[in-house]
Amino acid sequence: MPTTPDFVRMLRGASLRVTGPRVAVLAAVHDHPHADTDSVIGAVRGDLGVVSHQAVYDVLRVLTAAGLVRCIQPMGSVARYEARVGDNHHHVVCRSCGAIADVDCAVGYTPCLTAADDAGYEISEAEVIYWGRCPECAATPASHQNETARQEED
Ligand SMILES: [Zn+2]
Ligand SMILES: [Zn+2]
Repeated sequence: MPTTPDFVRMLRGASLRVTGPRVAVLAAVHDHPHADTDSVIGAVRGDLGVVSHQAVYDVLRVLTAAGLVRCIQPMGSVARYEARVGDNHHHVVCRSCGAIADVDCAVGYTPCLTAADDAGYEISEAEVIYWGRCPECAATPASHQNETARQEED
């Protein structure tokens, strides 16, 4: 078996009761970085069978509050969840298709946390989103993008 993170231990480490839905949601977010709620629900249902939307929302909220899951919400996008937490990494978002990829801070050094002027705030996180176009969209001339999409549907 491939080594998967010990979700049970992660839940216990965060002083959370271990439940089937919590383990399934954690696994789904881990397997599908930057998934939106609907994708998480889909993955959890594939795993557990019937689970209500509300149950998944509740679990996501609990896991996010506990710091096991990070929630990001780029402007104009629905909330996305990821299990990669605690490293202050950033995101690059495609303006055309909404694809999201991780962008690392330099390991062990987070220059973006050193604001030129912190205005006296104790800074713990820098949320940086780079906007642009993903390689796939960049390969398609912007003016022809809609046309191409239509042609591909035929
Ligand atoms: Zn794109
Ligand atoms: Zn990420």
